[in-house]
Amino acid sequence: MTVGQVIRSHSNIFYVLTDGEIVECRPRGRFRLDRQEVLTGDLVEVHREKNEGRIDKVLPRRTCLQRPAVANVDQALVVFTLKEPEADFQFLDRVLIHAEQAGVRAIILLNKVDLVEPEVVAAFCHAYGEQVGFDVLPISAKQEIGLEELWPRLVGKVSVLAGHSGVGKSRLVRALEPARDDVRVGELSEKLGRGKHTTRHVELVPLTRGGLLADTPGFTYLEFEGMEKQQVPKLFREFTPYAAECRFSDCMHRKEPDCAVRDAVEAGQIPRTRYESYLVFLGEIEAMKRW
Ligand code: GDP
Ligand code: ZN
Repeated sequence: MTVGQVIRSHSNIFYVLTDGEIVECRPRGRFRLDRQEVLTGDLVEVHREKNEGRIDKVLPRRTCLQRPAVANVDQALVVFTLKEPEADFQFLDRVLIHAEQAGVRAIILLNKVDLVEPEVVAAFCHAYGEQVGFDVLPISAKQEIGLEELWPRLVGKVSVLAGHSGVGKSRLVRALEPARDDVRVGELSEKLGRGKHTTRHVELVPLTRGGLLADTPGFTYLEFEGMEKQQVPKLFREFTPYAAECRFSDCMHRKEPDCAVRDAVEAGQIPRTRYESYLVFLGEIEAMKRW
């Protein structure tokens, strides 16, 4: 018995990466009876029979994303730009919050730094890096800036790209793997557009220097369905130390008196864009509850 990771599937055949080798596996009969699903990214116990294998067990999932469905993603590479396209902070925060909620670590790749002034890059890194606490990496996929800093973060991890169309996800993948045309990142909509039966599933591609990358962007479905509004302040990690100082322990940081979070926004200690996103998301969750 060996443990491997499912990197792609086709019909009921699962391709499992184990000891650097890809083995074609079928789930054992019971799976169908139990209606248990095997997902890309799943860690599985495999019983080898010559060149094939049988999946006996799916190990507990550390994380599980939907649309595309992929298990055990370690980190989201959230590609963001300040120019071309214009910065969309609300979208960025939406992705970051969903990653946080899914238990997936987010790395912000500030792409196209060749198009903006260094001061603007530094201000962004200060806000989302130092103040909020994310790992922010300024890069240029086009000019191949920052890639050597990115590589060590990819090795040994399962990563999924996220971000608006046009921010440079495809270009980044080409910059990381210039010699390979099997590593691509497509748009989810294109794949799902062909109808249920021909849908190609998400695939994890082994990268040259190590690590696995999903070939389909993640975090494309960003509704706050099922979220309670009390959860939201906790997902804005930089609020936490200030929230402890609010007059009310259940402060929602809106109109309450003596709100230390609002004070921190006014004092420039919490980026205003984050606070604005927070208010929008809270409003959306409340609107959903009213139905
Ligand atoms: P995707 O939709 O996120 O996959 O974005 P693409 O990879 O297709 O990139 C969109 C456009 O931005 C293309 O014309 C790229 O050449 C361009 N682009 C990507 N990265 C950079 C960069 O670092 N600097 C500049 N100036 N342009 C870039
Ligand atoms: Zn407060």
